[in-house]
Amino acid sequence: MSVADNTTDRANEAGFGEVTHDLPPLGQDPTRAYRLGIMGGTFDPIHHGHLVAAEQAFGDLGLDLVVFMPAGRPAFKQDRKVSTGEDRYAMTLLATSDNPHFVASRFEVDREGVTYTADTLELMRGIYPENVTLYFITGADAIADIVRWRDAHRIAACAKLVGATRPGYDLESARRTIAASPYPFDVTYLEVPALAISSSYLRERVSAGQSLRYLTPDPVTGYIHKHGLYGLQGPSFGQRGEA
Ligand code: NAP
Repeated sequence: MSVADNTTDRANEAGFGEVTHDLPPLGQDPTRAYRLGIMGGTFDPIHHGHLVAAEQAFGDLGLDLVVFMPAGRPAFKQDRKVSTGEDRYAMTLLATSDNPHFVASRFEVDREGVTYTADTLELMRGIYPENVTLYFITGADAIADIVRWRDAHRIAACAKLVGATRPGYDLESARRTIAASPYPFDVTYLEVPALAISSSYLRERVSAGQSLRYLTPDPVTGYIHKHGLYGLQGPSFGQRGEA
């Protein structure tokens, strides 16, 4: 049976109907184990902190691949306007395209309705064979909150978790929250100095007309300018100061 056949059958068993997807094949050799990283984030916009964190997870955890998965419809972000899934996916694709072990996926942005991580991971658990272990990588703040996410027990059953933090983050408090949960979360924490960069900092800089150079790959900056994101008034096509 091919990986694609497997996909449809197992997703059907899980009650999600037929699943079409752009996820990379993995797990073809049944005699070996594979590790797949899933980098989950809103990525509004993606920046070098995310890329360094994923590269560090790839090396430290011996991952085979890292799939960058921009969050679909983050209903949990009511406090501000989030860029469209199409824009966030496009920037993620541009940022990851030159790394052979990074892949950008539309898996969440193409899904109808609110996209919960429990559904995403359960679907992926159905897509990949048992010899592929899933590692869901995201910010440590988000991991500390995971106990309150919808169907957290399903997340614990499908994937190991990786919390990426900037040095100085209160890991003890995050560990206590996870330890107090009734679910068997398996969490690894990674300290990533580059996570001093944040998406909100980039958005503020754009709206103040400041440079994003060295904070995110240049093609992402180009995309932001071309599409007038984060308060820029219309496309600048290189005429609006420094890219
Ligand atoms: P967030 O609350 O906006 O982010 C919390 C912190 O983590 C921020 O400092 C953020 O920095 C950082 N962060 C986010 N993603 C990261 C990543 N992949 N690597 C390193 N740092 C990261 O979190 P979010 O972006 O909305 O959500 C993160 C993931 O959790 C997404 O996959 C989302 O779908 C999932 N989530 C699921 C549920 C649910 O199922 N109920 C609820 C919340 C979140 P930046 O702003 O710089 O990224």
